[in-house]
Amino acid sequence: MSDSDTDSPENASLRTPIVAVLGHVDHGKTSLLDQIRGSAVIEGEAGAITQHIGATAVPLDVISAIAGDLVDPDDFDLPGLLFIDTPGHHSFTTLRSRGGNLADIAILVVDVNDGFQPQTIEALDILQRSQTPFIVAANKIDTVPGWNPTDDAPIKPTYDEQSDRVRGDLDERLYEIIGELSDEGFSADLYWRVQHFQRNIGVVPVSAMTGEGVPDLLTVMMGLSQRYMKEEMEIDVAGPGVGTVLEVKEEKGFGTTVDIVLYDGTIRTDDTIVVGGTTEPIVTDVRALLQPRPLAEIRTESRFEQVEQVDAAAGIKVAAPDLDDAMAGAPVRVVRDRALDDVIEEVEAELAEIAVDTDEQGVVVKADTLGSLEAMADALGEAEIPIVRAEVGDVAPRDVSVASTADEHKQRVILGFNVDVLDDAEERAEIDDVRVFTDDVIYQLVEGYEDFVEELERAQQ
Ligand code: GDP
Repeated sequence: MSDSDTDSPENASLRTPIVAVLGHVDHGKTSLLDQIRGSAVIEGEAGAITQHIGATAVPLDVISAIAGDLVDPDDFDLPGLLFIDTPGHHSFTTLRSRGGNLADIAILVVDVNDGFQPQTIEALDILQRSQTPFIVAANKIDTVPGWNPTDDAPIKPTYDEQSDRVRGDLDERLYEIIGELSDEGFSADLYWRVQHFQRNIGVVPVSAMTGEGVPDLLTVMMGLSQRYMKEEMEIDVAGPGVGTVLEVKEEKGFGTTVDIVLYDGTIRTDDTIVVGGTTEPIVTDVRALLQPRPLAEIRTESRFEQVEQVDAAAGIKVAAPDLDDAMAGAPVRVVRDRALDDVIEEVEAELAEIAVDTDEQGVVVKADTLGSLEAMADALGEAEIPIVRAEVGDVAPRDVSVASTADEHKQRVILGFNVDVLDDAEERAEIDDVRVFTDDVIYQLVEGYEDFVEELERAQQ
């Protein structure tokens, strides 16, 4: 690290890259995360895997133990990888950081039997838009007919030589995935030919069930992060913490708390923080920082252990007064030695950046978080569907009132992403002839609406 030391702030340190897992439903995202965590627990000394709120840290020495000869810890200075526990693009879009997505790198899981599905394409869109580097995990290789697992070293980087392990049907399916990636505008290849991160996408065959290929996947993630992201991972460990709200939750004994992912600096008990709220920034003091206890230690009294300080990157629960109005997806900032007003302004600026531009006429959009609202707005913008109002929250009667004032029938519509429709809103919508569409896949929601518009237009002809 001697080269970079000269240019770095005094307290510079490298943080762990934050990893998100995306892909179509049932393609194995959860299983892959479980497999990574499971392998990590087996390989790590007790306590080596740090439990976080919403994320799991797998340190370099554990990755190295899993990957065997593939990862020599001496070649790396990134401390490991932090996996966001909730897979899927919903959490990916929700989790934003200043100027982009919270995840530094992603794994796109594709079932080799099923190939590209709607949510695979949606995930690709999101990754491309957010310019997040990613690697494709071609999953479920154990189910491919003719698959012949052998028990020695991980899949060897000798694809051209037709290694015993990657062949026949699997070959064909991997090439299909590579073909589909290039149809979507990416150039792709099996990982050992990856040369330009982001331009050439690595495809790593894995089985989340047997664990096969997982060492390779971790190796590629570590290798690419080290090679292409080291500079971005540099943080000032003594700096005031910066993070993103993952969830707002009631916690017995602590009132309303926020689960956050901290991606820069540190947060300490008693720090004054500014948190993005539904109406305005909330200024409060950290009463406690809560980390889940290791499972074995959980007693009936508390699932949490209180810690005095947390360094990025980490997931942590923050207990503080006045968090009722905090908003998932909103920024959190520690004030420390800065002027409070400046920090409030920064939080406001970040919230404004996420805010959705609206039109004079258009549909009403509701979503569960700021990030998903923004993703919805992007998708609707691409489909050239105007928006009259965009807000976080369940579909409420006042949304129906707004929609019912539209001049055009096709705009007497509410599109709800990942939200509920309140009972009185449903009744009201029926009376006012407002159509409410809800879905938990953006792509399907937009398509459903487009089908509806098409039908309307056909009926009018
Ligand atoms: P998710 O919806 O993407 O999170 O998918 P899950 O991880 O829940 O997996 C969906 C189903 O596929 C479950 O029944 C898993 O057991 C199964 N599955 C996941 N990965 C593999 C794999 O590598 N091999 C096999 N045979 N089954 C898998």
